Amino acid sequence: MSIFKDLWWFFKKEKRSYMLGIILLAFVALLELIPPKVIGIVVDHLTVNTLTKDILLKWLGVLLGMAITVYVLRYWWRIMIFGASVRLARLLRNQLFEHFTKMSQNFYQKRRIGDLMAHSTNDLQAIQQTAGAGILTLVDSLLTGGFVMITMALTISWKLTLICLIPMPFMAILTNHYGTLLHKSFHKAQEAFSSLNDKVQESISGIKVIKTFGQEKEDTDSFVKQSKDVVDKNISVARVDALFDPTISLIVGISFFLAILFGSRFVMNGEMTIGELISFTTYLGLLIWPMLAFGWLFNIVERGRASYDRVNSLLAEKEDITDVRGAIMTRPTGDIQYNIQSFAYPTSDEMVLKDIIFTLHKGQTLGIVGKTGAGKTTLLKLLFREIEGYEGDIKFGGNSIDSYSREALRSSIGYVPQDHFLFSATVADNISFAKPDASIGEIYEAAKLAHIHHDIIQFTDGYETVVGERGVSLSGGQKQRISIARALIVDPEVLILDDSLSAVDAKTEEAILSSLKQNRQGKTTVITSHRLSAIEHADLIIVLDNGGISQYGTHRELMNETGWYKDMYHRQQLEILVEHGG
Ligand code: ADP
Repeated sequence: MSIFKDLWWFFKKEKRSYMLGIILLAFVALLELIPPKVIGIVVDHLTVNTLTKDILLKWLGVLLGMAITVYVLRYWWRIMIFGASVRLARLLRNQLFEHFTKMSQNFYQKRRIGDLMAHSTNDLQAIQQTAGAGILTLVDSLLTGGFVMITMALTISWKLTLICLIPMPFMAILTNHYGTLLHKSFHKAQEAFSSLNDKVQESISGIKVIKTFGQEKEDTDSFVKQSKDVVDKNISVARVDALFDPTISLIVGISFFLAILFGSRFVMNGEMTIGELISFTTYLGLLIWPMLAFGWLFNIVERGRASYDRVNSLLAEKEDITDVRGAIMTRPTGDIQYNIQSFAYPTSDEMVLKDIIFTLHKGQTLGIVGKTGAGKTTLLKLLFREIEGYEGDIKFGGNSIDSYSREALRSSIGYVPQDHFLFSATVADNISFAKPDASIGEIYEAAKLAHIHHDIIQFTDGYETVVGERGVSLSGGQKQRISIARALIVDPEVLILDDSLSAVDAKTEEAILSSLKQNRQGKTTVITSHRLSAIEHADLIIVLDNGGISQYGTHRELMNETGWYKDMYHRQQLEILVEHGG
């Protein structure tokens, strides 16, 4: 029951709804005491032949009035209590989502998407149930159960009541035991559901690869296996769950047995009337629901406990990249000075960057080249604090990048990654993503700069064409250019093209680069590329090899020294010649 303590903050917040709901529930519980009493009175009139039409009509009127009132009250307590529980789910869902948006790459590397989705759906549902049905069953089992027992004891026979309550403690012991079993099996079932979710997510995103390699059968087999696992684990939950109702029915059955056994004796002795015995057994019938509710309560609470723990452990993960106190809120501008002694990802010991020292003056273009895995992307991601934890310092506009708020730092930088991502929205919305209030003129301008405008106007709906996962298929080059337009629309101080021209042809690449040169005068641009022609005109070129700077200078300087750059340049020139020759 500690889950109710943990959710106390919420109950306090929703005090009004819960109090009102509970008061209405209490009224319903009191009103439900009336019918058994009425039945007893009517039966007693019948046995002594004193029932008149007036008396019967009076009691029927009472029953009808009670039924209508209960109908209205039940409607309202549901709105109050279940309404509040939906608000709890909404609150936690929003909290989780906000938390997800704050977490860095490390977090997403550790947690699988399917697992995160399971937390946001199944677990929140279990918590919502605790705050709704959990409260209902708790209050109802205590109030209705308590009222019925008190009425039986005070108005009929305390002796018979005590006798009939003898089996009840056994029920408490058993349901408690089942609760512990349920907790364990439910936890496992939720974990299996997380894995299944993950599997589906991965298979659907990777469906093209699966089909290309003809792995549909293997993938389906693995899905079937995981799906069976989920079913097995849920059956284990159901097995424990199934123990509750029969146990409770058995105990209630024993109570009925005792009631008839001893009640009939009391009637014979004259201690009770027949009407009272009938009322008594009807009250006993009224106890079935509170008892069932009590068993169900354990079940709900255990699920809520397991799910609340899972959600909390997720929320407890700290953002690993935070702002310093009193962080600078203005957008940085100026020179960028790298001075990195070393950097390794937290997940491995391998040194990814070492001794990276260079200065990039405001307005210059920097080209970074080198083999795949040399560390180019890592070097760039450190600049906008997508990753942290290096030895050394990076300065932007004279201040360490750590002294800026992340928001300010990132608003200065437009990063176009290798693995571009388009949202399922219109082309125009994708381009204006970072500047939602951009005019259509600004959107056109960014698209023209990225040399994608002409492609877009050929689409059936032009700028209103929906792209992304559920939209039209675009070529890799078109996607890349839309991603570039998205970065250009904010006219960033620093534009980073991280191998983001790889899928466009050499001519378009040249056209894009030359319009960038014209339009971004005074602004800094960083380009990494496999094609050396893309960085040939840069003010500064860095060759990265195995995490270190192996060569450094302008194109002309690098062509004058022997090394990777010169070799690669000649090789690429030769390839162009061969292609053109062919
Ligand atoms: P490049 O952009 O030059 O291809 P990267 O910066 O992507 O190189 O990678 C440099 C090295 O860091 C590689 O050895 C890569 O395996 C490793 N690496 C990249 N990202 C991660 C990560 N998130 N966790 C651990 N290692 C990583």
